[in-house]
Amino acid sequence: MLCVLVRYHEVALKKGNRPYFVELLKRNLASSVRDLGFEEIKSLPGRLLLRLGDGADHEEIRRRIAWVFGVANFSFVERTSPDLDTLQSSILETINGQGFASFRIDTKRADKDFPLTSPEINRKIGAAVKEKSGARVDLKNAELTISIEILPRDAFFGFDKISGAGGLPVGASGRAVSLISGGIDSPVAAYRMMQRGCRLIFVHFHSAPYLDKTSQEKARQLVQLLTRHQFTSRLYLVPFGEIQRQIVATVLRPLRVVLYRRMMMRIGESIARREKGGALVTGESLAQVASQTLENLAVIEKATTLSILRPLVGMDKQEIIDQARRIGTFETSAIPDQDCCQLFVPKHPATKAKLADVENVESRLDIPGMTQLGVEQAEREEFSFPA
Ligand code: ATP
Ligand code: MG
Repeated sequence: MLCVLVRYHEVALKKGNRPYFVELLKRNLASSVRDLGFEEIKSLPGRLLLRLGDGADHEEIRRRIAWVFGVANFSFVERTSPDLDTLQSSILETINGQGFASFRIDTKRADKDFPLTSPEINRKIGAAVKEKSGARVDLKNAELTISIEILPRDAFFGFDKISGAGGLPVGASGRAVSLISGGIDSPVAAYRMMQRGCRLIFVHFHSAPYLDKTSQEKARQLVQLLTRHQFTSRLYLVPFGEIQRQIVATVLRPLRVVLYRRMMMRIGESIARREKGGALVTGESLAQVASQTLENLAVIEKATTLSILRPLVGMDKQEIIDQARRIGTFETSAIPDQDCCQLFVPKHPATKAKLADVENVESRLDIPGMTQLGVEQAEREEFSFPA
């Protein structure tokens, strides 16, 4: 019977929370493959087992499970009863006709009551495979590795071990609001927080009708891509043009970006309160652009009492781009658009904004009214994966 054996690492280290985290992982795995013909998912000691139905789409299952956070690695395995003869004959049957010149057997015995030790099992089954296939044993560079796991009630064997996405199951670390532009950085920041177990609610600010709608479409596409890690997402599209117009009418150019950002924090915070989110996530990286100097970051974060998580703060642009390519968001982010923060700002904004100056200009604006406007006019969209 073909199954997927899923191993977790970090989840297992969380003593008190472990049963809850395992349950979350189980639920997330079930969501990720729910339309692909799997029959059940159950907990085994230290592992999860997905039983696949006939005709299940293995390639797609492999892709999907590789997106689920909390998975250390996984294998497609055959399940047999935990006795040596049955195990051996199933292995011999499965490798029948597979051409390979060398092989090794790698046994893990979680059931210490099993009559043979792991090396003994390796030797015994190794001898049978050798005789049947004519292949030689090669412990270093085997063409085929046969992995065996002996658990108290089942034995499993398989031929591959696929790396998982690591981290913690989404939901294990609560909820946060991710400020997502159409750029390269914010989707990577979102990915990294989801990998740490955060469930994200997304917020995108756009300057329609002053700028075109490309950034909104990019934000939608990026959220859809990221949803394959958390299965359902909500995106708030906040019209920011009118708010920017009011800022522009009162504030000189150099400070505008900092004011835009502070408004984003306030509106993000308001949405976070409504969504029970405990933090804001941004794609800021120290000194990448003028608005991201130490001074400006400090002034920006004073606009909210929520913690601001900046998972990219110490990464350089190339590292971020490399990760964006690996997680599949780069191509969408690279589509040209106009970000709302480019509206009515100078080439060289202030790099050392002072809180007192910023608060002084803000005192001439109706900040609560502007915040409320943003929240009230936000449009909500729902995403799910699989669609
Ligand atoms: P990104 O590639 O994520 O746009 P960036 O390097 O262009 O980042 P900024 O434009 O300074 O940097 O934006 C810094 C952060 O502020 C972004 O990573 C994002 O979290 C948030 N942000 C900027 N613009 C928007 C927007 N239009 N909607 C939502 N969040 C935004
Ligand atoms: Mg940007």
